[in-house]
Amino acid sequence: MKKKSAEQLETEIRRHNELYFQKHQPEISDYEFDRLVERLRTLKPDSPVLREIPSDGARLKESGIKVRHVTPMLSLDKCYQEEDLQDWAEKFSGDLVATPKIDGCAVELRYDGAGRLILGATRGDGMVGEDITLNVRMIEGIPAKISSGPVEIRGEIYMSLSVFQKRKEEGFSNPRNLAAGAIKQKDPNKTKEYELSFFGYDVLGVACATELEKFRQLKAWKIPTVEIIEVPRDDMKSAYDYFLKKREQHDYETDGVVYKANLVSEQQRLNFTAHHPRYAIAYKFQGDSGETILKDVEWSVSRTGTITPVGIVEPVELSGAMVSRVSLHNLGLMKQLGLRRGSKVLMMRRGGVIPKLESVVRAGEGAAIVVPAHCPSCEAPTEVREDFLYCTNTKGCRRTQVAELEHFIKAIECDGFGDKLIAQLYDAGLVQDPADFFSLQQGDLLELDRMGETLAAKLLHNVAEKKKIPLDVFLRALAIRELAKHTSKILAQEFRTLEGVLRVTEEELSAIHTIGPVIAKEVVEGLKRKKGLIERLLKHVAVVGVGSPRPGAEGAETAPLQGRKFLFTGSLETMTRGEAEKKVEALGGEMASGVTKDLDYLVTGAEPGSKVEKAKKLQSKGGKVRVLSEAEWQKMLKLAD
Ligand SMILES: [Zn+2]
Repeated sequence: MKKKSAEQLETEIRRHNELYFQKHQPEISDYEFDRLVERLRTLKPDSPVLREIPSDGARLKESGIKVRHVTPMLSLDKCYQEEDLQDWAEKFSGDLVATPKIDGCAVELRYDGAGRLILGATRGDGMVGEDITLNVRMIEGIPAKISSGPVEIRGEIYMSLSVFQKRKEEGFSNPRNLAAGAIKQKDPNKTKEYELSFFGYDVLGVACATELEKFRQLKAWKIPTVEIIEVPRDDMKSAYDYFLKKREQHDYETDGVVYKANLVSEQQRLNFTAHHPRYAIAYKFQGDSGETILKDVEWSVSRTGTITPVGIVEPVELSGAMVSRVSLHNLGLMKQLGLRRGSKVLMMRRGGVIPKLESVVRAGEGAAIVVPAHCPSCEAPTEVREDFLYCTNTKGCRRTQVAELEHFIKAIECDGFGDKLIAQLYDAGLVQDPADFFSLQQGDLLELDRMGETLAAKLLHNVAEKKKIPLDVFLRALAIRELAKHTSKILAQEFRTLEGVLRVTEEELSAIHTIGPVIAKEVVEGLKRKKGLIERLLKHVAVVGVGSPRPGAEGAETAPLQGRKFLFTGSLETMTRGEAEKKVEALGGEMASGVTKDLDYLVTGAEPGSKVEKAKKLQSKGGKVRVLSEAEWQKMLKLAD
């Protein structure tokens, strides 16, 4: 890609700025926008355009009464790389805390000596905001009176996703923009209609020694807060992963994780730059939208016999998670999109939790999607009624699917799941395919008849015990006809890793003398059909391939990279970080959390960060860590494979 000049960047940023702030119709994600700004900051730090980017609070045109903030309301510095986070944290001592970063509108609330709410103000430009006192009184979660004062409370007004869903037709692209408009209504009753919510995250003017104490104080005043957790210094990313995982459960949008120094004394020492406090940083979740290629459409049969199209796309990162499947909802909607294989499509994961295929960017050259005439589960004829596709054999179809679940549980020898329980789980919608066993939660199980806490905990324990599955068992568990015990064993021995097995062709397979062409065809097609299931299972389980045991290691089931710890730094050329980590785990290796004495290999991509220095320091002290280039790492994979 050709690098843009500073002048080009300036023009582009100005244009997107206007689209965002004046027209409220952003064309690119916040992430992409921030990248442009970062590049300009590097190329031309004194560019006047950099000063034209307003902070979050200044989204809509300011018009009301101005309020000067006693302490400036600065926006947070942000980063997208773990290394930047580590560099930031090295500048101070003491504990760290983290909270999810709410994507809303920052506000300041002032309470007087009697604890009465006397002022609400937007952030504005950070120095001067706008008086919205009458409107904030209409927001649930902002008490009119608290038990003590005077105090200034800062927090975020936001619109919950469930309220946003109801108001989608108002045409706002995300809940934040809608909330920003809602808090500036001239009529406070109008503001009330928007059902806004509030989370407090800072307290000024009250002696609190730590962030944790501030949160306890907010709770004592009955002000809602987000979750706050302590962050281990040697694994800062764990807080990011924790909140990223939780993101889908929240009824509000989060766009990252805020890390802060816990000690208020450290915060005061660190102070501010002209733009940001130094004691806090936002580690942002990455791109919420992305373009990718539609590879295929699979058909998924529900309990009631509805057959839903599922798009299989080249993996694309949306909001920090790799997405390779997207529900197309129903036949009618799929047809409207006019999908063909190879189409370039726009995927989004914003303002909601489930990835969505928004539109076709460029029609593909590949074949049109064929609507199956037979049910992919039970092979009975299908039928189209209005926008939906159905299996005509509803009862028998359910039986086929439950039988697959039973087969899976038996194959992996997971105790406690009898046929009755499996049918119950299926009918309750808790387990639709074998991968769902691994995401069961205790709360889900307790809803079932005759299920107590002890039994539920035991079942979850049994499932957790099956997170490492030998390759032959894994293959057999997929319930592919002709891939029973004997053939699974042969495949595992011949091709050694799951990747090896998945790459195998009909010709290669039928060359093995006990297999033959009929079985080979059945197996290769079956594996292709189960690709979606395999990918879903791999999110939860590690498949232990058959490798040559390392000297000193016991048993022949040892995976080639077993017992070795890896870490990546910089951007890899041949694959994403996520794919690379999966490779390590598929071969039995482990991911390390940082450069420590346990680390075996540090793999460096383009523009590696401070980790390399750290690794070299360890080496100089006789540490075992080895620094590998991406090419050397590829070689290692080939040998292990
Ligand atoms: Zn069926």
